[in-house]
Amino acid sequence: MSQNKQLFSQIKLMKFILISLFFIVFNSSYTLAAPEVTSVRFGGDQNKTRFVIEVNGNSAFRTFTLANPNRIVIDLDEVTWNIGPGGATGKGLVNNYRYGLYTPGTSRVVLDLKSPSKISNSFVIKGKGGKPNRLVFDFEKISQAVCTTLVSKPAVQAKAVASTRRPSNVPRSGKKIIVIDPGHGGHDPGNLGGVKVNGISEKNVTISASRNIKKILEASGRYKVIMTRDRDIFLKLRERSNVAHRNNADLFISIHADAFKSPSVRGATIYTLTERASDREAAMLAARENKSDVIAGVDLQDEPDIVQNILIDLVKQETMNLSNRFAKELASELKKSVRVRKRSLRSAGFAVLKGIDVPSVLIELGYLTNPTDAKLLMQKETHDKIGNAILKATDKYFQQNFAYN
Ligand SMILES: [Zn+2]
Repeated sequence: MSQNKQLFSQIKLMKFILISLFFIVFNSSYTLAAPEVTSVRFGGDQNKTRFVIEVNGNSAFRTFTLANPNRIVIDLDEVTWNIGPGGATGKGLVNNYRYGLYTPGTSRVVLDLKSPSKISNSFVIKGKGGKPNRLVFDFEKISQAVCTTLVSKPAVQAKAVASTRRPSNVPRSGKKIIVIDPGHGGHDPGNLGGVKVNGISEKNVTISASRNIKKILEASGRYKVIMTRDRDIFLKLRERSNVAHRNNADLFISIHADAFKSPSVRGATIYTLTERASDREAAMLAARENKSDVIAGVDLQDEPDIVQNILIDLVKQETMNLSNRFAKELASELKKSVRVRKRSLRSAGFAVLKGIDVPSVLIELGYLTNPTDAKLLMQKETHDKIGNAILKATDKYFQQNFAYN
């Protein structure tokens, strides 16, 4: 009996030690969390501007400049952000700024410049008495010619899309593979049209809607869903379509939300890829969405236009036909449960849809500049409606294709 008691108290002691260890490990990993940016400030004028990042903890940084359009890029060791959504500053030499996770381990701030500028000085002022460290960057206006020579050629060269597609005669598991691509992410917030309406940027809407779509598609048991991103991180447009290509996907769906100057415009639109846009609005939208890499401080010198042109040729007519077939099913299903635009099917030259031999569509779920859409697009109920419409359209699309084969 007493032996049992001893054993019991030993177990209790072990439990205590284990729980304590857990908390020690948990807490130390907590304190080792990424440093936090608590504020950013701008000062100065049209010739000299100072940009200050306040950060709790140490984060090494690297800077570089990009031309066409003129930008200054600051890469930090991964940090968390506790500041506003970014956007227009209109201060000194800087027009806009944005920030976010660029790659795991690296956070990025991109500043759009009013005039070509260089970083004339950068240094750290250590915070005393628990105050945050200040990373200070001084920008100085220079001529465009000097700016262009400062911009160094990137080391990374454009790579052709590797042909890793599985031959079609290889038997596949029963499930169709759907790639869901939550638009934007990291220091590319997407459109900020909703920030004034409800404080939400496009990248937040796209990720939460996409997670729900994945859940609904997978719950059917018929589909395996791969997300191009499942956290707030940046991905180049090319990397997104490569996910579909690499995984030999059956469908690629890119999720976005639009913004418009008139707040009364609302409703969803489905876009497919064409070389010539279906209308002016579609062309303008594609131009905006295609800016994602520029916004993110990716140097497009390593992505020459010629590559883009070769890639569009790779998209066979058959893939385009299948994309249109899916888009039609989707439009008729979406219409039943959420508001769609009058012309719900449009097409334009979306970079994210180029270069993949996978039927693909881009959905603009609604307008963040419209108060009703902005509100609905943050509700799970709406995400469920969208997810169920996509599921029905996907089912019909595959049934139809199966019947043709
Ligand atoms: Zn977008």
